Amino acid sequence: MHEEQWLLRSDAATLASAATEVRDRLFGTRVTYSPKVFIPLTMLCRDSCGYCTFAQPPARLASPYLTPEQVLAIARHGARTGCHEALFTLGEAPEERYRVAADWLNDNGYDSTIHYLHEMARLVLDETGLLPHANAGAISRDDLALLRDVSPSQGMMVETLRGDLPCHRGAPDKTPERRLATLEWAGELSIPFTTGVLVGIGEDRADRLEALHAIAASHLRHGHVQEVIVQNFLPKPGTAMRDEPPCDTEEFLWTIAAARLVLPDDVHLQAPPNLSDDLAALLAAGIDDWGGVSPVTADHVNPERPWPALERLRAVTEDNGHTLAPRLTVHPEFARNADRWIDPALHFAVLDRSDAEGLGRDDPGEVWPERATAADVVHDGAEVVLIGHRSTAWYSGATEEPPTLIPTASRPVRGRVSAVLDSVRSGEPVDEHGITTLFSARGPEVTAVAEFADELRHEAVGDTVTWVHNRNINYTNVCTFKCRFCGFSKGPMSLNLRGTPYLLTLDDIADRAREAEALGATEVTLQGGIHPDFDGDYYIDVTRAVREAAPSLHIHGFTALEVTEGARRLGEDLVTYLGRLRDAGLSSLPGTAAEILDDPVREILCPDKITTDEWLDCHAAAHEVGLHSNVTMMFGAVEHPESWARHIVRTRDLARATGGFTEFVGLPFVHMASPIYLQRRSRRGPTFRETLLIHAIARIAYWGVIDNIQLSWVKIGASAARQLLRAGCNDLGGTLMDENISRAAGASHGQTMDHGAFTDLIAPLGRRLVQRNTSYGRVDTPRGEATGATSVKISPTSGLETVGTA
Ligand code: SF4
Repeated sequence: MHEEQWLLRSDAATLASAATEVRDRLFGTRVTYSPKVFIPLTMLCRDSCGYCTFAQPPARLASPYLTPEQVLAIARHGARTGCHEALFTLGEAPEERYRVAADWLNDNGYDSTIHYLHEMARLVLDETGLLPHANAGAISRDDLALLRDVSPSQGMMVETLRGDLPCHRGAPDKTPERRLATLEWAGELSIPFTTGVLVGIGEDRADRLEALHAIAASHLRHGHVQEVIVQNFLPKPGTAMRDEPPCDTEEFLWTIAAARLVLPDDVHLQAPPNLSDDLAALLAAGIDDWGGVSPVTADHVNPERPWPALERLRAVTEDNGHTLAPRLTVHPEFARNADRWIDPALHFAVLDRSDAEGLGRDDPGEVWPERATAADVVHDGAEVVLIGHRSTAWYSGATEEPPTLIPTASRPVRGRVSAVLDSVRSGEPVDEHGITTLFSARGPEVTAVAEFADELRHEAVGDTVTWVHNRNINYTNVCTFKCRFCGFSKGPMSLNLRGTPYLLTLDDIADRAREAEALGATEVTLQGGIHPDFDGDYYIDVTRAVREAAPSLHIHGFTALEVTEGARRLGEDLVTYLGRLRDAGLSSLPGTAAEILDDPVREILCPDKITTDEWLDCHAAAHEVGLHSNVTMMFGAVEHPESWARHIVRTRDLARATGGFTEFVGLPFVHMASPIYLQRRSRRGPTFRETLLIHAIARIAYWGVIDNIQLSWVKIGASAARQLLRAGCNDLGGTLMDENISRAAGASHGQTMDHGAFTDLIAPLGRRLVQRNTSYGRVDTPRGEATGATSVKISPTSGLETVGTA
């Protein structure tokens, strides 16, 4: 705690230097903003504040309230321009001052302005998915509680605790008691809350400190203050204070810095970027948030000061050594602790716009609520079709182009991400905390991570891009397990029984293997559900059937779940059982069934599946009997970066011990028809930045331990694949020939891929395409290439399908 007298006596520069140190320690280089649309529900207000141009008399307004159609039109415009937040701003209880407001509410069936606000917030949420933030002033405890199920966060400026300022003489709602009561009730009701102080309305430094201390004390009691806004007074024509001087810059910057020093560490600090010309000075005073920035609407409270364009904000932020990240109306600390802070009715709405850190998804484009209906015809595709407004942002499995993250001009970076990269460069392996830090990269930091990964890729494997000619054989889609992300399995335990359950015979499997060999494949990948009738010998019989039918094929088969179940059903230990599989002809194991190797996440995704330790034990046993395997990670459903880091560290430890992993395979979660998404309990897969970082960071973290980083181009498309190949990846994986369970997770298009298409994909990179076998040996006479017979139909698929199911 900083000594009061020292704060009062110090100048802005002195406080700023202490404040920025605190800010950098707490939040690193990151500065957030909320892309929002501003909805002025009513400009009538029962208060008259000396500085306000927002409140208008009824005579100046065409209607006392925006109509639902007007509200929706504004919100839809916001959704079309990529906003996440609908900021409802309104005067305080106008119906208590103006008859016209009371009549309008009465005529339209509403009890109060807050009741109407509640209905409009719900409308916006339902129709556009924008998250409402209700800025309704000093309202009652009941009204705060009412709004909690439509507005993930709420706000009210404390402004000042001076009760004698002339500017508040006509404002019954601006008494310190009313402001503090609202702040306190919000805490009691666990409402993530935005508040702040106004600087330059007649108060002095001691008054501001008093207000900041009161906010801090309320936060310490309840933990609910997510951000504090320090706002500078500007005189406006037509107001009582039009001739007053604007807030003194020294006082403004002093207050920002003092706020950082007075407020608890977990409270974010904001200054509005449209009310200052020198944005760098605000950063230098200690802020870490720009607040709501609207690409659509004016600031109705300060209409003469438009929002700076996002590109200007980004440039200023990055020029000053920071990175810019979009957030939701709730900050990540609250979004990630939804059970405590967010009404259950809003959990999914928040999750649906979140990235893995709990910030706003940052792929540009429109994000609409996804609505699905059952597909009329289900063969091998998704069992739902999307209806209504289609989002245009990038998602794994969808057809939209990703943003261009690589290549982008690199620029020097500072801070934690840069420190981790420097440490790896100096030979230190990156630990779990360092890996998590790398996942926080934004803007120029993403470029720095990707460029370093690309250097390491060049050092490890040179400039070739490899692929393997393989065929997937999915011998059954019947499964006794109930993984919540799985859109493939059918059977008594699955969510959806409409698809046709099947079980291939050993003859079918042998025929497919024979065909694959004849068409030039070098590998067959065996994967399927866990059929209730299987015993451990089934997998041995399948392996023998394939080995006899196609002696030259590398048999890449059976996940850790299948192996563990097989051994368990026979009562054998893993090493004995894997030895028997090997003797029957099995050549290597896929890494699927790993999903995320972090048990709390597995509890959500696949509660009845093998644990992290069981997956690791199975792969350790496989390596012990001489079977190689790979590491996969299905990411982007429910987990956070900390779990990605644990997954990498745990598999890296095993890789160091056994040397048995051939590659890391990133599998972005495809959400569209996944049961867990349809049950409204997951995100929409990873963002493109996250997808790129997973692969780049895998290259960095597995450096010296796993040489090959494979992308799953069927999920991300060619343009994304090219960017990942510049960010540490060197392998395109397999052709997945005749992959017959495509689109089960709802990916919307199929692709035809062959050697020529792979060549076209990498042509702009100036790298050489090389066909490999499963062990990364070169295939010197690619048979399919020579005959042109390798053209196969493959489609984006769910995380489990590409390299294994169970
Ligand atoms: S992922 Fe595998 S184990 Fe889980 S339900 Fe699907 S098929 Fe079964």
